[in-house]
Amino acid sequence: MPLEEATVPVLDRGFIFGDGVYEVIPVYSRRLFRLAEHLRRLQNSLDGIGLQNPHTAAEWGALLQQLVDQNEGEDQYLYLHITRGVAKRDHAFPKGVAPTVFLMSSPLTPPAPELKAGGVTAITAQDNRWLRCDIKAISLLPNVLLRQQAVVAGTMEAVLLRDGFLTEGSASNIFVVQNGVILAPPKNNLMLPGITYDLILELAAAEQIPCKVGPVPEAALRSADEIWLTSSTREILPITVLDGQPVGNGQPGPLFKRMDALYQHYKTTVMRSAEVKS
Ligand code: PMP
Repeated sequence: MPLEEATVPVLDRGFIFGDGVYEVIPVYSRRLFRLAEHLRRLQNSLDGIGLQNPHTAAEWGALLQQLVDQNEGEDQYLYLHITRGVAKRDHAFPKGVAPTVFLMSSPLTPPAPELKAGGVTAITAQDNRWLRCDIKAISLLPNVLLRQQAVVAGTMEAVLLRDGFLTEGSASNIFVVQNGVILAPPKNNLMLPGITYDLILELAAAEQIPCKVGPVPEAALRSADEIWLTSSTREILPITVLDGQPVGNGQPGPLFKRMDALYQHYKTTVMRSAEVKS
């Protein structure tokens, strides 16, 4: 249905408590990108909030493909949102209530070439979120406030530090490059396990680009040769200015360019598989 016609009862627990989880899935050439990985993360998020998955992976695949088919545009991004449903306001889980499922398609445009060519700016901020950042929860107020801090500072992203270590961005994962080695914070309860994050590490491993997954101290961030942000909709972008200081020489670095080329090539494998199918 048209977006304007979609409504939700005011007692939906998503509206009242932010009690739900979500996914954002890119679609290239009308094909769902890394669907199995997104559905696996969705299951982890649902398990994390004790909500039963309303659909099997096959059902999700069919529903999402139907949404793609009913919308225009070769490239789309799908927003998938599940809440604990509509119930009288009470913090405790309601019994016998069906979850609310909301699916939405939007046009997907790749990041503007000038962002890749010139890089983007960011600030650092203290990560003051909860200790289950691995759940892709719809309650995003801390992320909203952190992102707004970045916007007020005239930058694109807030790079988050907790107890002196890098966690992630307010809406992205963050990688650091030092002396030709990619440093990535470990996947744990302090960050969202990005689908793009996994793909970057996969591509690096296939090309034998050295990677070190482990705690990234603030000092490594401050002395980085390169910093990247990654997400499903923004792909990979180089952060060239952090807290007003140039990162490395202030230009997108050679490893960024290499990784972006690998990523773009990987995207075309989806298009190729679409050609084989059609
Ligand atoms: N961390 C946070 C907090 C995010 O909101 C996102 C996605 N917007 C990511 C990381 C990146 O995840 P993905 O690569 O799956 O988009």
